[in-house]
Amino acid sequence: ITFADLPLAEPIQRALREEKYTVPTPIQAQAIPAQLEGRDIIGCAQTGTGKTAAFALPILNHIAANPKGLRRGMARTLVLTPTRELAVQVGKSFNTYGRNIRLRHALVYGGVSQHPQTRALARGVDILVATPGRLLDLMDQGHIDLSGVEFLVLDEVDRMLDMGFVHDVRRIAKEMPGHRKTALFSATLSRDVERIAKDFVEDPVRITV
Ligand code: AMP
Repeated sequence: ITFADLPLAEPIQRALREEKYTVPTPIQAQAIPAQLEGRDIIGCAQTGTGKTAAFALPILNHIAANPKGLRRGMARTLVLTPTRELAVQVGKSFNTYGRNIRLRHALVYGGVSQHPQTRALARGVDILVATPGRLLDLMDQGHIDLSGVEFLVLDEVDRMLDMGFVHDVRRIAKEMPGHRKTALFSATLSRDVERIAKDFVEDPVRITV
């Protein structure tokens, strides 16, 4: 199959053509149709497999087809990553694939001044990419409203567990509605990852590449 065979909105197809993507990678070929059908997924995949587009494209497709007014501090999509480097990389991918749709986004991570981040969040965002610690700080200060989250992505969950973020992730998830869609990615599926998955993901399609 090619990307042109997938039911993705034209502005996204155009971005993919501009990037010279023609054939989905194995994780994309499995994860994109499942998410377009509204399924939760668990993806066992390393960096380099194309996992970012595997979750970003269905989310962008939904946002392109369902534009929505945004309230102060709200986020329609939350992508949690273990590190600032990965957050930046994921944010760039959303920019690339979403360049032909109207989109508000924010990037939130520690180690830098929080003012530009809170300013980006103030009018609400379609996509919020964040690391857990700074996200909780901003939530505790009332800058973020997760009650309208439609999509949750947990990226590199095994690393999040290794870095001790499990409690933070659970606290964050408590603020989100139960009916959101969730995509969970991990390079390994240890017992601890499976335990998190059980609590966050509903009737998932499992994909291993
Ligand atoms: P990721 O595993 O998400 O970090 O992606 C790894 C690299 O593969 C990134 O540089 C992407 O731009 C690139 N990539 C992802 N999907 C495709 C695709 N279907 N065709 C060509 N390149 C891709």
